[in-house]
Amino acid sequence: MIIGADWAVTAALDEPRRRWAVRVVDGLIDDSGPVAELRACHPDDDFCDGSGCVLLPGFVNAHVHLYGVLAHGVPAPAAPVADFWGFLDDYWWPLVENALDHEMIAAAAAWVTADLAAGGTTSFFDILEAPNALPGALFAQREAVAGSGLRGVLSFEATERMGEANGRAGLHENVGFIEDCRARGDRVSGAMCIHTTFTCGEPFIRQAFEAAADLDVFCHAHVNEGVHEGQWCAEHHGMRTLEFYDHIGVASPRFQASQCVQLSPREIDIIAESGIRVSHMPLSNCEVGGGIAPVLELLERGVTVGLGSDGYLNDMFAVMRGAFLLHRAATLDPGAISAATVLHMATEGSARTLGLERVGRLEPGWHADLQLVDLEGPRGLPTPVEAHNLLDQLVLWRSASDVSRVMVGGDWVVDGGEVIGADMGELRSRTIEQAARLWS
Ligand SMILES: [Zn+2]
Repeated sequence: MIIGADWAVTAALDEPRRRWAVRVVDGLIDDSGPVAELRACHPDDDFCDGSGCVLLPGFVNAHVHLYGVLAHGVPAPAAPVADFWGFLDDYWWPLVENALDHEMIAAAAAWVTADLAAGGTTSFFDILEAPNALPGALFAQREAVAGSGLRGVLSFEATERMGEANGRAGLHENVGFIEDCRARGDRVSGAMCIHTTFTCGEPFIRQAFEAAADLDVFCHAHVNEGVHEGQWCAEHHGMRTLEFYDHIGVASPRFQASQCVQLSPREIDIIAESGIRVSHMPLSNCEVGGGIAPVLELLERGVTVGLGSDGYLNDMFAVMRGAFLLHRAATLDPGAISAATVLHMATEGSARTLGLERVGRLEPGWHADLQLVDLEGPRGLPTPVEAHNLLDQLVLWRSASDVSRVMVGGDWVVDGGEVIGADMGELRSRTIEQAARLWS
């Protein structure tokens, strides 16, 4: 099949191309070129006409909590307390994470992955913390996300906060799931994951990273989402969080660290020098009052940085817009970050943080994970689209509802803005039922 559009962004950092097309064969990009030329070369191919649209790589959401949707719009009696430790001890852990079961996890996962697909996301990394849903939590979640057709990396956030045995069960869940996904060989895979330094002891952290090395997967942890973890580490280990991870020998490219909001200069050095990969969540950082992550400095130091929603908002356009605006405001510099840099983080950058190979560009040999975004229609801008303003138009003035078609690995998953094979009303109803169970 040949997919053509008025514009194509084959890689976020390359110049957009006018009247451009890609050819898809066996789930991969086979060729790319001007629409007329490519069609003349392959006259028997099917043609998907994306007139009025821009063709670009699908988004890679580098950090999401699919179950998080169950806690959006919390019922008033359960409203969280403002203090960080109270938020975890009195609200998030007992009322949300500890109460999750397989049915709740599956319902939320099915609905949110369909919503992610509708908004142009083709790959995601999920972090599930549900200590009382062990064992089998990831397997229940996989059944739910498989229907979306997305490329999913799922992990269970192992923690010792419920005791050593529960921590071991969390690691075991990841190991079993990673091996099982390898045997199946479909689009869902697994990764190793631990919570934080304040819920995981040193031997446990080492064990997680050793298992990740044995299985050749990355290991994720939330790092310094606000000021609290760095302070906790200084108090309990006599050094800051990433100094501690470095001290125990796990700071390496195998480490995928999310958040990284409050970093000391030494911690930035450790990330840059050890090759730790970072995911950035500008909107949820604002929501929790965590601060502004030093993303521009990390990028300047050559760190691999991806972009994620954190399960807060599923619209990756909104997340990109957040990064674009936040870092300009923080630096008092309207040239601090470009739309191209933001789009790069949301596509190839995120894919690199997750070790997804040949994902994030539309070049020959790369996966056919792509989206067509409407530039015209009632919400189109009056100013003509040109190569110099296309990416600004995408990042600032488009949203998930402008995505018209989405393909993952050569298969269409969204057509005309609708998720193929998904009854969104039914998925939403099931999630409402499970949210009611959770809050009861
Ligand atoms: Zn998170």
